[in-house]
Amino acid sequence: MGATDIRNIYCIGRNYRLHALELGNEVPDEPMVFTKPSHAVVPMNGSAVEVPGDAGEVHFELEIVLRIGARYEPGADTDRLVDGLALGLDLTLRDVQSKLKAKGQPWLPAKGFKGSAPLGEWFPYPGSAALAETEFVLLRNGETAQRGKAADMLFGVSELIHYIGKHYGLDAGDIIYTGTPAGVAALHEGDRLQALWSEKEVGSCTIKLA
Ligand code: ZN
Repeated sequence: MGATDIRNIYCIGRNYRLHALELGNEVPDEPMVFTKPSHAVVPMNGSAVEVPGDAGEVHFELEIVLRIGARYEPGADTDRLVDGLALGLDLTLRDVQSKLKAKGQPWLPAKGFKGSAPLGEWFPYPGSAALAETEFVLLRNGETAQRGKAADMLFGVSELIHYIGKHYGLDAGDIIYTGTPAGVAALHEGDRLQALWSEKEVGSCTIKLA
């Protein structure tokens, strides 16, 4: 599946307790869903990813990304609805987002800019049980920046799919960024990012501030 085949991009905010707290946010009592335009997707295939260099801090957020393979119906077996897994970055203009939050405005300028959704390679979905304890890691310039596992999500895969499917709809080609664990920080020109799933690299890129 190429970027052009991706339809809706749903993202979950504050889905890991320690990440919500590190940004001074309350832990939500239901999934906090926002979207990105499909134009946000760029491949995380070793090449450069261009991000705005003139809009304050750009933060990395490494996330498990689910690909939906069929239309959601109430009561669906969510493990059968997911047909692929990847790691992706929910790049965020943090200073812009802080201003938007203060004014109560939508997050699109902070979260939806072109190139804000680098996406690694797709691999088979192992099912939510196997997913739960598998570690995913973001290396920045060879050092661990983020480490997480799905078991630490506030709202798990099944809950997220039922929630999004019920309220907004899900069908083949939709993807879900499931939220980021703690450790987010600002990127710098030339940063080398590697996404690891169970110690195997499944995506990488170099940051170019433009
Ligand atoms: Zn995120």
